Order: sequence, then structure tokens, then C-alpha cells
Amino acid sequence: MKLLPSGFALKHKRMSMIKHTKINSIPLYYERNLDESTWGDLSKWKAGRFNFDEELYEALEWVFEQVEKFFMFPLGIITAGVQVDKEGEHKFGRAFDLDGIVFQGGLKLRIRDRTKLHAAVMATFMQRFGVVLGWMYDEDHEDHFHVDLSKGWGFRNSRSIVGAVQWFLELDGYAIKIDGIWGPKTQYAFGKHEGLLKLKVYDTLRYPSHDEYGAFLRRIALKFFDEVKRERMIEDGEIEEFPGNDMRRTLKEIRRLVDEALNEEEG
Ligand SMILES: [Zn+2]
Repeated sequence: MKLLPSGFALKHKRMSMIKHTKINSIPLYYERNLDESTWGDLSKWKAGRFNFDEELYEALEWVFEQVEKFFMFPLGIITAGVQVDKEGEHKFGRAFDLDGIVFQGGLKLRIRDRTKLHAAVMATFMQRFGVVLGWMYDEDHEDHFHVDLSKGWGFRNSRSIVGAVQWFLELDGYAIKIDGIWGPKTQYAFGKHEGLLKLKVYDTLRYPSHDEYGAFLRRIALKFFDEVKRERMIEDGEIEEFPGNDMRRTLKEIRRLVDEALNEEEG
């Protein structure tokens, strides 16, 4: 049975859908159920056209602007679908599934790999989308993450959001369990990371404000993008690890040079 008001809403939503082959100027690809060995090769025949709700499309434009600005220019976006005939936000073109991104220089981000680059990209999406479901949410999201606009932006005490925050903290070196539950250890690590939540482990639990959550996501994304870039530059021999990375060693080296100069003067 269909009621008129929801039928009207459906029609209204459909009217705002537009087909796109690119986000910003980055082509979109579809690679599901294809030969694994050619994943991310950006073959022309894998390029696709997708139906987007305008609001979703605008949010994705913002996300990929950030990725380009703070990391690298993507050559291709691999999606598992936008408007799909199934229940939920996908039906209205208001949800997006990301399988991966292929960057300049052949770097491939595959969402099934739990890397810092994956985390940085996820943290960027989380700065704009209220719903981001990744591997920490359930088994269906092991190989892609899902974003949609069904909920407003901000921190929520949900398994998807808390699980993602815990994963970012773990990648950043904190020993915490990724269980999607906001407890004292998560709060402590978050507070220490941010310097915003000035609480100790045994203090009263409270959730981050929207501002604290936003600042955390932004810092994580920038930090991880930067680390991945730096690692790649070291691998390629473009920069040396010493001395830029280690302030203590740098200061020691400066002191040694000063001492040397003073000794020479005396002598
Ligand atoms: Zn989805």
C-alpha cells in the first residue's frame, strides 16, 4: 500500500537527481565482480555514469576537494554504487559506496585494506556525512564504506562513529579496543589526542561536542595524509628521514655545531 504524501516525497526526491560520470574532474569507475588482478587499472570500459541526488553530489565534491588539497590528485574513484534499487538512501541516490581511489603515481587505496590512507579518507568523509559505515560497523562493509545523508552531521554515540574514532586512535598509537562503545579509555585517548576534553580516565563520561569531534576528524585526516605522503617520499628517496622528523636529534646537532664553532674560536 502506498500513501500519497510519501509518493509525493519520492517524486520530489527523484526530480533532484542528476547523472554524473565524474566528481570534480575525477572519473567514476565500477569494478564489482570483475577480474581481481586488474583492480584499479582504470580501464575505460569500467568508467560509469551514476545517478546522484544533488545534495549528496555537493557533499562528495567537498570531500574530494579536501583529498586533493591535503593529499594528492585522484585519477579515479571506484564506487560500488550510488542510486541502487534497494531499501534505504541508495534508492534516492542519497548514499554512496566507496571501494577505493587510484591516485597519481599509481598509489591505490583499497578500502578492504585497513591502512592509514583509508583512515584519512574516512575521516574526511566523516567531516561532512552524518552516516559513515565501515568495517567496524559490520561484515557487509569489509570491502567498501557507505556514506549517506539520512542523519545530520555531528558526533553520535553510535557503533559506527565510536568504532571509527577508536580505530583512528588505535592507528595513532593508543592501545584501545575497537568495540564501538564510548568508555573511559576511549574518552581518555580522545581527550589526550585533542587536548580538548580535559578529562581523566575515571572522570565522568561525556561525549565530544560537535566542535571537538570536527576538530579531531580534521586533525586525524591531515596527520595521516601527511604521514602517508612522508612515507612515500622516503621510499622514493625524495627526502631523508633525518633530521626533519626528529626535533631532539636536530637540536642536538645544532648544539654540536655551536660547540664546534666556539671551540674553533677559542683555538
Ligand atoms: Zn551503501
